[in-house]
Amino acid sequence: MDNSLKGYSDISERISILKAFGIIGGATTLAMSLFSIYEKNLYLSLCLLMSSLCFFSPLYLLKKNKIEISGFLILYTLYSLMLYLVATGGNEGSGPAWVFIVPLVTYFIRGLRKGILDLVIFGFLVLISYYMGNLFEIYQYDSPKLLSRMLISFVIVSILGGFYESFRHKYNHKLISLLQENADLASRDHLTGLPNRRYIVEKISSNNNDVKAIALIDIDDFKLINDTFGHQVGDEALIHFSEVFVKTSRTSDLVSRWGGEEFLCILNNTNCSGAEKFLSKLQLELSKSKFNKNGTEIPFTFSAGVVELTTETDFDKAIIEADKKLYKAKSTGKNCIIS
Ligand code: GH3
Ligand code: MG
Ligand code: MG
Repeated sequence: MDNSLKGYSDISERISILKAFGIIGGATTLAMSLFSIYEKNLYLSLCLLMSSLCFFSPLYLLKKNKIEISGFLILYTLYSLMLYLVATGGNEGSGPAWVFIVPLVTYFIRGLRKGILDLVIFGFLVLISYYMGNLFEIYQYDSPKLLSRMLISFVIVSILGGFYESFRHKYNHKLISLLQENADLASRDHLTGLPNRRYIVEKISSNNNDVKAIALIDIDDFKLINDTFGHQVGDEALIHFSEVFVKTSRTSDLVSRWGGEEFLCILNNTNCSGAEKFLSKLQLELSKSKFNKNGTEIPFTFSAGVVELTTETDFDKAIIEADKKLYKAKSTGKNCIIS
């Protein structure tokens, strides 16, 4: 990723803005180049024409995703052109008027810190160009006050631009972290911390190629736990079960809370007998784990329906199938796995 532009969250947005800079810079310098030919200022015309090519080239480079090179090309072409205009006076001494474009483009391409450094260096180079122009009599500015006024305005624009960039950067980050937090909250079950139904459905719809088996799991007689020990203990039992579930599963498996006391496990690269083995292990681990409350052990079990998937299997239909098998497991005595 392009680090100098990392303050901008969206890469396509960055590309669009760089394109806009390239088009505006390229078109302006091309028009100015033609005007300079008309004015018979051939050196200036040639310099502007070369700048125009450099500004336009990111339009091609960005197609190949060369974002960083494009940014540098735009920025340092702009710097070179500005320094040339300051040293030579541009068209009848109007050259320095263009330097105020520099802070905005610099902050966008280099970010705040590197941007400040670049602007300080650029400021010094402007000074040198101005004096070199005078020293070698390339261009003699009419008003000696022009340089100091120009630099003061340039510093003010750079500082204000820096503040703006700093706020923009700060709020952009805040917004991104809030969005991430929001997305995380929307995809997780608040009680167990497991991915929720919405997350699983989205995940499966976007890619179900590797999924080979799903297991729909339902805790047996959970209402009894609630009724006997209270809802709070019921909650803790769900958390306990989730922890055992996650510990027992492989990292490639996806464990989620489907709703209530039902859980859905997506088993990647696994067939029915593999899924059954996993669930038997889960039964064993659950019985070994011992859920205790106030010194009382509260044992509980689960039943499960397992369905093997092929690439053609529709996920919704697979869930219905798993649910039927789970129902069968319940009606055949609970604490069992049907595949
Ligand atoms: P079965 O063996 O047939 O599955 O019986 P069961 O009692 O587990 O199933 P039933 O559907 O009758 O009851 C499920 C209970 O789970 C009812 C509901 O109040 C409880 N429950 C659902 N979500 C939560 C939760 O987040 N916390 C607590 N404590 N209980 C919950
Ligand atoms: Mg249930
Ligand atoms: Mg149940």
